[in-house]
Amino acid sequence: MSGTDTDVSGIIRGLETVYPEAACSLEYDKDYELLFSVRLAAQCTDERVNRVTPALFARFPTLEAFAGADAAEVEGYIRSCGFFRGKARDIVECSKMLLSEFGGRVPGTMEELLRLPGVGRKTANLILGDIFMAPSAVVVDTHCIRLSNRLGLVDTRQPEKIETRLRAILPPEKSNAFCHMLVLHGRAVCTARAPRCGECVISELCAFAAGADGAVNF
Ligand code: SF4
Repeated sequence: MSGTDTDVSGIIRGLETVYPEAACSLEYDKDYELLFSVRLAAQCTDERVNRVTPALFARFPTLEAFAGADAAEVEGYIRSCGFFRGKARDIVECSKMLLSEFGGRVPGTMEELLRLPGVGRKTANLILGDIFMAPSAVVVDTHCIRLSNRLGLVDTRQPEKIETRLRAILPPEKSNAFCHMLVLHGRAVCTARAPRCGECVISELCAFAAGADGAVNF
């Protein structure tokens, strides 16, 4: 099975029946709060991030407050998310740059987003898709890597290659939701440890379930 448009359309339709309202599970009110939450979610779960951000955002209610924060105090709020020193430093430095170079707004282009401390293509795509509703946003996280390989849509673990391949085969207006659906499906059914293919709504379109040559399981 290969990643043809027909296959992808069927996969999207199947996933939409189960996850019709697929969205990012990080909780936020302001654009920069999503940016910081995504940074905190690196090597951490969205659930844990959602537990720490209410107190963090209450203590630092504006970008100015974050920009003026002592990183050590920010660390105290995010310690349980792991890698807290680097994350705290990035949040404070990012706040400063948003204020000094972007008028206090999260920028809306890939090029600008990638200039921000701690922001890589995954984060930038998520911001473009969720904040700016940009077409062709492809968020390649661990679920996307695992599921797109199992489904036979890609044959690589390299995020940039996956992003390019998925962007080429996904309808632009569906790409952001598709990635969110992969996350939900990856948590609920197609888990890293043991995919439950017997319960999977897209099993008939899946290379791994079909035992196809080259279908990667990791
Ligand atoms: S059929 Fe199995 S491997 Fe394929 S997407 Fe579904 S759960 Fe994952």
